[in-house]
Amino acid sequence: MVFDVVLREARTPTDQDRLVDIGILNGRIAAIAPTLSDAAHMEPMGGALVVPGFVETHIHLDKSCIIDRCSIVEGTLREAIAETARAKLAFTEEDIAARARRTLERAVAGGTMHMRTHVEVDPRIGLKGFRAVRRLARDFAWAIDLEVCVFPQEGLLNDPGTEELLIQTCSEGANLIGGCPYADTQPIEHITRIFSIARRFDLDIDFHLDFDLDASWMHLDEVMRQTRLARYGGRVAVGHATKLSAVPAQRQIEIAHQLADAGVAVTVLPATDLFLMGREADYNVPRGVTRADRLAQHGVTCSLATNNVLNAFTPFGDASLLRMANLYANIAQLGRREDFERCFDMITGAAARLMKLTNYGLAVGNPADLVVLPCRDTAAAVMELVQPLMGFKGGRKSFTRQPTMLLGPGTRPSKGGRH
Ligand SMILES: [Zn+2]
Repeated sequence: MVFDVVLREARTPTDQDRLVDIGILNGRIAAIAPTLSDAAHMEPMGGALVVPGFVETHIHLDKSCIIDRCSIVEGTLREAIAETARAKLAFTEEDIAARARRTLERAVAGGTMHMRTHVEVDPRIGLKGFRAVRRLARDFAWAIDLEVCVFPQEGLLNDPGTEELLIQTCSEGANLIGGCPYADTQPIEHITRIFSIARRFDLDIDFHLDFDLDASWMHLDEVMRQTRLARYGGRVAVGHATKLSAVPAQRQIEIAHQLADAGVAVTVLPATDLFLMGREADYNVPRGVTRADRLAQHGVTCSLATNNVLNAFTPFGDASLLRMANLYANIAQLGRREDFERCFDMITGAAARLMKLTNYGLAVGNPADLVVLPCRDTAAAVMELVQPLMGFKGGRKSFTRQPTMLLGPGTRPSKGGRH
């Protein structure tokens, strides 16, 4: 067999001690073996780690990069929603596309190759966000698979006209529907309506849930109840679930078993939750970040994701999922290699399961969606927060980054080097 490309002397996550060649043919991984010789093009890996492309399960491209249009005084959720709603009035389709493109380019350069983006739909923004992001999905198909989750950020029953627009986007090909019960005056009915639209169009659901630390009641109970009622197990995810960070570990484990049993997955969004939660405290501030690793250990499909980039919800960001895994590990006070490996899994394999991606992973027959990292194993990638060196999307090189070189006295820049 003559391969289109062979990645020569690569390390893989399953066997760090042995270097292999990865043969790519027609966009797919065609062979993984100690030595593959016949190739149109040899790409030396020099012992670098080759992993599957990262999976971003929750990001808002449409409202990214608007921090210079927002004022952050309180740093609360209420302020973030109000500031974004105000800025949104001036959004145009071109403006949304330009900002989303900037964020998407950074995500691609950070190794992300699959993405679920939430897009706001309401009578003020109309379908501008939806149309802009759908156009980008086509423009960036060479680098990333982008799916669109439409949702009512400012509420549904309290915002007449929103439901009709959501239904329109679903009939125009939205990939799934989201809900935001905390923003609604009738949160339970909000959840019911979202399930109803989802069933009508046979779409999966991804809710925004919580954004407070009052564990005396939870919309999560209603989401699990309706998931069972609709026989939607395995088709529902929730983002944030911050209330779970405010209950004792034993209770978290009980809820994890309920979530696993109901088939509800959880995405934790460390950057936003750290920024917005606990604002009522002026010292000893609670972290407000739910223990995704603990839920995962008790059977819940969990991912770590970016959520917001440079806006009033999160005035930071580079759309790097490895940074999110590193941040999460630090917040959750993780220290064992197996924990770091689990964090890596929550931006790769587990995140792919949450999005129900098929043919994902480093295996013969799967699409050659691969990222090259300058480290020996996945735990090191999280611990050291390494920068991806290059990526291959469908077997085609989609980005590169030159390794940093230190130039001490008497040294000259030279090319290459082993890892
Ligand atoms: Zn979100």
